[in-house]
Amino acid sequence: DDRKEEIISCMLQDVIILLNTQAKIYNITLNLEVESDQTIYCNRTQMKQVFINLIKNAIEEMDKGGVISVCVTSDQNYCYIEIIDQGPGISSHIIHKLKEPFFTTKKEGTGLGLMISNKIIENHNGKIDIKSNQDIGSTFCICLPLSKKET
Ligand code: ADP
Ligand code: MG
Repeated sequence: DDRKEEIISCMLQDVIILLNTQAKIYNITLNLEVESDQTIYCNRTQMKQVFINLIKNAIEEMDKGGVISVCVTSDQNYCYIEIIDQGPGISSHIIHKLKEPFFTTKKEGTGLGLMISNKIIENHNGKIDIKSNQDIGSTFCICLPLSKKET
C-alpha cells in the first residue's frame, strides 16, 4: 500500500475540520492538544479513517454535548493519540467485544468501525487500548511506532 511520512497533527487537523460541523450540532467541542508532534510512516487515507471512526464514535455517545479531547504525546519509540470523551463509558461485560465485527449497541450501527480501525492500526504495527470510566467517559488510545524506527 501507499505509505509516506506524515505529520500527526496535520492529519488530525484535517479530520477535526471535517467533523466540526457535526460536533457543533450536538454542542460538542473538539479540542486538539499536541504536546509533542511527530511523524509516522503511514497510509494517510487509512490513518485519517481511523481518526474519523474513533472521533465519530465519541460524538455519537455524547448526546448531551461537552468536550472531546484529542491528545498527542510520545516517548522514545511511540506516539500516543488519545481520544477522550465525556460519554457514558463502556460496561465491563462488553468492552472486550468492541473490536469484533458487527458488534454494535446502536439502532443503525454497522459494528465495523472499530474492527476496521483495529486492523489498520495493527497493519501499522500499533495497537488500540480502550479504557472506560463509568459516568466520566471513555478513552481510546492509539499507539503507533515513530517513523524513525521504520527505516
Ligand atoms: P458502530 O459505531 O457502527 O456501532 P463501531 O465498531 O464503531 O460500530 O463501535 C462498536 C460499539 O462500540 C458501538 O456500538 C458502541 O457500543 C461501542 N463504542 C465505540 N466507541 C465508544 C465510545 N467512545 N463510548 C462508548 N461506547 C463506544
Ligand atoms: Mg462507529
